[in-house]
Amino acid sequence: MDIDLEIFSPVQQIKNKLFDDLGLKLFIKRDDLIHPIISGNKWRKLKYILKRALSENKNHLVTFGGAYSNHLLATAAAAAKFGFKSTGIVRGEPVNNDTLFLCRLHGMELLFTDRESYRNKPLLFEKHFANNPDAFFIDEGGAGADGAKGCSELLGELTENYDHIFCACGTGTTAAGILNGIQNHHLTTLLNAVPVFKNGGFIKEEIEELLTAQANFNIHVDYHFGGYGKTTGQLIEFIKQFVASTGILIEPVYTGKMLYAIYDLATNNYFKPGDRILAIHSGGIWGLMGMKDKF
Ligand SMILES: *Cc1c(COP(=O)(O)O)cnc(C)c1O
Repeated sequence: MDIDLEIFSPVQQIKNKLFDDLGLKLFIKRDDLIHPIISGNKWRKLKYILKRALSENKNHLVTFGGAYSNHLLATAAAAAKFGFKSTGIVRGEPVNNDTLFLCRLHGMELLFTDRESYRNKPLLFEKHFANNPDAFFIDEGGAGADGAKGCSELLGELTENYDHIFCACGTGTTAAGILNGIQNHHLTTLLNAVPVFKNGGFIKEEIEELLTAQANFNIHVDYHFGGYGKTTGQLIEFIKQFVASTGILIEPVYTGKMLYAIYDLATNNYFKPGDRILAIHSGGIWGLMGMKDKF
């Protein structure tokens, strides 16, 4: 079977008074619409990883994540769709939640592991799959060069020019892929990466490691709202207002923080009049189900 999905990810304009008054145009690339479960950047990252597994005759995907990991869920669904077995090694005590329920429903076997052992993923893989010739290691979050390659294809889908592209940043693979795509297409667009965890400055090196050519980009480290998976009342209010006024679902872990950053930077005159800004909706809305109590 060929590993591919037809990409449906339109660009839509988001109209509101703030951007009108500043003479800015905000657009959003709807990667969340690529697939209901294998959403957004998770599909882009998995595409070449799965192709590699297939070319190496491996039919059992093994990957890693926290109990709310969008990557685990995307891998489970992609494995089911393209005929792989899958195992998810989950950080922490055995639990059940909506994400893990959907992982299991797609046939993923879950192995829970304590936080200490979770740190050494190659060792965990060795421990459980050393004698399994079918097993294929996929790093947490689909991080790495194959993942970045898939993300770089996003740029080939754009038919207009943008002064800025914004993406939320976990491992930095998506940001690196977008930067490589900007270079491949000889664009002058500035990439703005928004790390979703505290002290996000180190993501610069993670991104640079995956670049195919040197590139300049901006990192906005002040939009973590307390750290990974953390929220504040201000962020939740912003998300409610955004969803209710656009009909586009976003969530507090990634896309909410990235969009908040754009609105806040606009208010603080980061952009110049006439700028066209593209926000990447990297998907992940199942994550909302784990955060209902925050609303
Ligand atoms: C995983 C994820 C990210 C982070 O992508 P990286 O490539 O790890 O930086 C961003 N947005 C969403 C919705 C995600 O699920």
